[in-house]
Amino acid sequence: MTPVATYAGRRVALFGLGGSGLATAEALAAGGALVECWDDADAQRERARAKGLPVVDLAEADWRGVEALVLTPGAPLTHPEPHWTVARANAVGAPVIGDIELFCRERRARAPGAPFIAITGTNGKSTTTALIAHLLRSFGREVALGGNIGVPILALPPPAATRVHVIECSSFQIDLAPSIDASVGLLLNLAPDHIDRHGSMQGYAAVKERLVAQARRAVLGADDEMTREIASRLRAAGRDVAEITASGASIETGVAAEGSDLYRVAAGQRVKIASIDGISSLRGRHNAQNACAAVAALGALAERDDLQAALGSFPGLPHRMEDVGRLGRVLFINDSKATNADAAEKALAAFPSDIYWILGGKPKEGGVAPLAPYFSRVARAYLIGAASEDFAATLDGKVATNAAERWRRP
Ligand code: ADP
Repeated sequence: MTPVATYAGRRVALFGLGGSGLATAEALAAGGALVECWDDADAQRERARAKGLPVVDLAEADWRGVEALVLTPGAPLTHPEPHWTVARANAVGAPVIGDIELFCRERRARAPGAPFIAITGTNGKSTTTALIAHLLRSFGREVALGGNIGVPILALPPPAATRVHVIECSSFQIDLAPSIDASVGLLLNLAPDHIDRHGSMQGYAAVKERLVAQARRAVLGADDEMTREIASRLRAAGRDVAEITASGASIETGVAAEGSDLYRVAAGQRVKIASIDGISSLRGRHNAQNACAAVAALGALAERDDLQAALGSFPGLPHRMEDVGRLGRVLFINDSKATNADAAEKALAAFPSDIYWILGGKPKEGGVAPLAPYFSRVARAYLIGAASEDFAATLDGKVATNAAERWRRP
């Protein structure tokens, strides 16, 4: 755990007692803060009480003297409308923050030089985060891996010069981390997502930009226009920027993938440093982008002779281009973490033909219409979940489809 001493003796309201909320409340209490926590769900409040944390009905409480509201990233800060606790915090001038902000304050106060790699992007965050952690561990470094992936940041050991924090950050978490100042900040890509919570694409992008804008070294995807623009802005402001590309974009400094080969690019000159050919956990061009990002995040460590071996032993993550097995000449891939069209496109792009595509779930804005250029690769689509009808309408006449209920019956 990382006890948060920066609020010792001060009153902090905390709303949301899920996994990260509970861990944050414990870290605040361990650091001496006068934390008062609340959640709408009785069961969550019970869990907090069982840990000896003070549970206080924040709707009834007198907020005067509260010095910060720690809000769960699951509750809206601004859109569609601020959570009721945000209005209460604003009324007493208390900043609204999250666990990553508390970590950053603690790091600045106690171990400002501690390595802290923060990763965001619309897609590929978890894969890149896990890959960076895997590479560093392969090189013998102590790594604290968490954030939006798995362990809440404050449940990890404290920041220290000898330990690298590798932290995945969602846009909601960055929104609650106004002073986030990673040693290396990565923004992989930007595509429409979570617009309901950020008001507009611009609002969403501005929040993501914060993670790289205040980082000592920024790593940015050059494969989409919005991240390219952010890179130019940061470079013009004199920041240390490395770019990554898996689509042949022209970059001055950073890491580029050409096919499966990874090149370090410095002052426009390319030197091959590794290849992801045959590494099944890194199949597809999107994973080439993730690999470039991970290698760029390593800085000088990427020059090590064992980089290739370390890449080759990356086990990958469940549900992301996961090789489930083979039956005859059929390869089964589980990519069910592809929860938006942009992510699903990358999986379709990884296979040239004969794809049997199981898709569905909750529809997102635009549905699967942007994937039309890949429909010819799909031999048959199997539709499941709430989006079945929407998706069937888009695929109608272009792809043979089976509603999964029919398909599942013997
Ligand atoms: P995130 O944590 O951002 O959701 P993951 O690494 O968990 O990303 O991958 C989720 C899905 O997104 C994968 O199943 C894959 O389909 C897709 N994906 C992974 N990396 C990328 C990328 N760099 N660009 C676009 N899509 C990606």
